Amino acid sequence: MTYLFIEKEHQHTLKKEIIVEGISLHTGEDARIILKPAPPQTGIVLYRSDLDQTVKIPAEPFSVVSLVRNTTIGSRENENVRISTIEHLMAALWGAGVDNLEVEVSGPEIPVIDGSAYPYYQKIIDAGLEKQQAKRRFFKIEEALFAREESSYITILPYQGFKISYTLDYDHPVVGTSFFEFEESKDNFAAEISKARTFGFASEVEKLHEQGLALGGSLDNAVLIEKDKTVNPLRFENEFVRHKILDVIGDMALNGRIKGHIIAVKSGHRLHVNLARKIREKMLEEEN
Ligand SMILES: [Zn+2]
Repeated sequence: MTYLFIEKEHQHTLKKEIIVEGISLHTGEDARIILKPAPPQTGIVLYRSDLDQTVKIPAEPFSVVSLVRNTTIGSRENENVRISTIEHLMAALWGAGVDNLEVEVSGPEIPVIDGSAYPYYQKIIDAGLEKQQAKRRFFKIEEALFAREESSYITILPYQGFKISYTLDYDHPVVGTSFFEFEESKDNFAAEISKARTFGFASEVEKLHEQGLALGGSLDNAVLIEKDKTVNPLRFENEFVRHKILDVIGDMALNGRIKGHIIAVKSGHRLHVNLARKIREKMLEEEN
């Protein structure tokens, strides 16, 4: 019984390979990824060129192995094969409409570029998409699912389109409280969401470095927030909440394309993936 899956439109892959090089946000190492066209029904699959290249990691919620300040996926066959910070690339692939792709990664983390999804998105659009014979499958949410943790939560409700309503609420004068909404059918992902960059607080940098995180972070790839101002200028007055929506999109893209209305309050990668797993379980039930 697959009535919750809707088949419409066509699957797409890239017309040609794309190479992207640059520093990684957390390890601080230089990295190179190659996006390669893939056949229908492949989904998004990643592998490490510096390790066993036959170990492929499907970009799906149950591949996620770590959620500390980023979304890291890993192989269930070999725990050394991990790839970090895939969320902005996943959002760019979703935004550009790429269903099938093999991603070769040179090391443990992909390049952060400017801290947004836009450079990846633009390269994909420039390379062009190849329409494939197979139909694209949308998973339609038919009952509410949610995940929560203290005062943060994320829920998905039945809805005919794909919409995210996000409330950001930080006890910090620069970030404060803001609300933003993105609806796939009305809003432009490239213009409204893809350019919003990741952000961090100057007061946390030292602690992150001690944890081996954000070692590649700089004003070139993140908005740095001080006590009462941002060090680098913002691209949008509400860039922070737009970036949170970008993160939600990237994490939800682990399930391909879904139809539902997501309402998120102060959620981060852990809650996003928690919800994505609940959605995945429903998908697997429907498939069996
Ligand atoms: Zn992010």
